[in-house]
Amino acid sequence: MAWPCRVVDDAGDWLALYIPKGATYMCWDLSTGTRRLQPAHWRKDVLRLMYPGEPFSIWLFWNDDDERSFAAYYVNMEEPFRRTSIGVDTNDHTLDVVVNPTLEWRWKDADELQSRVEQGIYSASFAREIQREAERVIGRLERRESPFGDGWEQWTPDPAWEIPELHPAWRDEPPRLWDGRISAYLDTSY
Ligand SMILES: [Mg+2]
Repeated sequence: MAWPCRVVDDAGDWLALYIPKGATYMCWDLSTGTRRLQPAHWRKDVLRLMYPGEPFSIWLFWNDDDERSFAAYYVNMEEPFRRTSIGVDTNDHTLDVVVNPTLEWRWKDADELQSRVEQGIYSASFAREIQREAERVIGRLERRESPFGDGWEQWTPDPAWEIPELHPAWRDEPPRLWDGRISAYLDTSY
């Protein structure tokens, strides 16, 4: 998939990217059974915090109500990101953790992670590693460590910002592959 993002912060320990509601992104068209990307409209304001070298990103979602109330944190397990000439590349690792505004959490797609093992896409040991890394983030959450105690929930975008558009070269820029993929994926086309 491909998203247009506004860079909010790229100077500290994270890369903070904003994807506003209404942005046009490219997602898989699952209706045809072929791997084809189609444009779609992003439906919720999101701030995505990506950490160099870390196998996850943390997404913050806001509701589309008058108060722009905070909806959830979402810990997305994924490859550590790589920079390209037009943005960053990563690849999803199936398992997620959803954290509500009062910081209670629950697993999402743990069963799907298991079926990736059964389908021969991930090795069992790699699936365990994803799980362990997710538990490490849950530990950060339970200790209220950054970003969970930082007050990001109150973050608001500058109203003057326009909705970002996908870079014109998004389809042509060669992907920068993760150097861990050979040991991680039994099916490296994944
Ligand atoms: Mg995910």
